[in-house]
Amino acid sequence: MTIPFDHSWARDLPGTYLRQPLAVAPAPRYAQLNRDLARALGLDADALAAHPEWFAGQPPSGADPIALAYAGHQFGNFSPQLGDGRAHLLGELVTPMGRVDIALKGSGRTAFSRGGDGKAALGPMLREYLVSEAMAALGIPTTRSLAVVATGETILRQEGPLPGAILVRVAASHLRVGSFEFFAARGETDKLRALLAFAIARHDPDLAPDDALGFFDRVAARQVRLVAEWMGLGFVHGVMNTDNMALSGETIDYGPCAFIDAYDPGAVFSSIDRQGRYRLENQPHVLAWNLARLAEALLPLLPEGEATIAALNDRLAAIAPAHEAAFQAVMARKLGLAVPNPELVAGFLAAAQGLDWTRTLRDLAEGGPGVSPGLRDWHGAWQAARRPEADLRAVNPAVIPRNHLVEEALTAATAGDMAPFEALLAACRAPFGPAPERFTLPPPSGFGRYVTFCGT
Ligand code: AMP
Ligand code: MG
Repeated sequence: MTIPFDHSWARDLPGTYLRQPLAVAPAPRYAQLNRDLARALGLDADALAAHPEWFAGQPPSGADPIALAYAGHQFGNFSPQLGDGRAHLLGELVTPMGRVDIALKGSGRTAFSRGGDGKAALGPMLREYLVSEAMAALGIPTTRSLAVVATGETILRQEGPLPGAILVRVAASHLRVGSFEFFAARGETDKLRALLAFAIARHDPDLAPDDALGFFDRVAARQVRLVAEWMGLGFVHGVMNTDNMALSGETIDYGPCAFIDAYDPGAVFSSIDRQGRYRLENQPHVLAWNLARLAEALLPLLPEGEATIAALNDRLAAIAPAHEAAFQAVMARKLGLAVPNPELVAGFLAAAQGLDWTRTLRDLAEGGPGVSPGLRDWHGAWQAARRPEADLRAVNPAVIPRNHLVEEALTAATAGDMAPFEALLAACRAPFGPAPERFTLPPPSGFGRYVTFCGT
């Protein structure tokens, strides 16, 4: 068997990528292979299992490794020239799940690497594998992880020498807000137009290929829904730069992300997010800000004049209310309300401060006796408002990839013991339980403040 790659990106979008060599791994072997996902993609899992080198520098024939160029606003500052500094798109697959990109992360230096080595460490790649699989099981749009291949190489990071690895990522596409910013910044309107037609063909084929406003609306709707789902789960993406916002509406780039334990609207985990720009409560505002950057990048494709400005302004003004409505719908689902009830949700959020977010909602869903004292007043109002027949266990997970468990699993994996990772992965793949208690409990009191790193 080989992998029947197609290459529409390389064919249709000249100027958005460079053909770049892959680094050849000295001793590749799978640290993880997602057989279920392989089958869902129509691939022969046994054939993949026999060929870890396919994803570690020696791809099967038919691959055409390219590094994608893009721009992006990072922490609010514009960089006109970013790009895959340690990633390659091998090609696309037309699958029962639709057309997907098969891409590598940690696959070697490219023209976009700047000072970096183009490599990735095993811990961060397993982290993306775990959290993206958890998100998929939770029903949240996300890129998927097909495999993590340990390269057999040792790479140097601040913490010292670490085992190297490559993640095999499956994405509806790697188009991002920053892809449009790239050509907009260069004033290359013809290429911008081609990019729009490509993006529409890929994600919204019912639209006319030049319908920039229609495409904006679709992207906005997908992202609004996505961020509302994140907020319902207490998921902090951590690095919502415009180059990390996918036009497909999938969660992408799991570097410094984390789930909250105790509910804190100001929760921030990333070591580099010192101002808290990407803190939990700010994600909806960043969403609107990023969509404004997309609107600006689409401007050259729209008729000049006040009507266009008014149309875009109306759309941007609608993002915050749309997010609020989507979040209320998420919470109504989680609380079993027949209709959204912002007042009841506000009461919950006020009373839940400092309580374990996931556990508190799960306890409500399980209807046990343990209502924490802070929630008692609210609980009566909720009982009166909720639909008693709704099974809330199906929408309030027992298991999320909790920070202390993720750390424990990655520490063991880096030392060569995959057992804790496998156990946590299995629990995260069945998040709505029932689950062994150790996967559902808040962190031990000594766990302290959790800090994440981009893993670069
Ligand atoms: P990421 O966290 O993977 O999104 O990385 C952010 C940016 O830095 C992307 O443009 C990456 O391509 C680049 N980058 C991250 N780590 C490395 C590395 N080890 N070598 C080269 N480029 C990197
Ligand atoms: Mg990125």
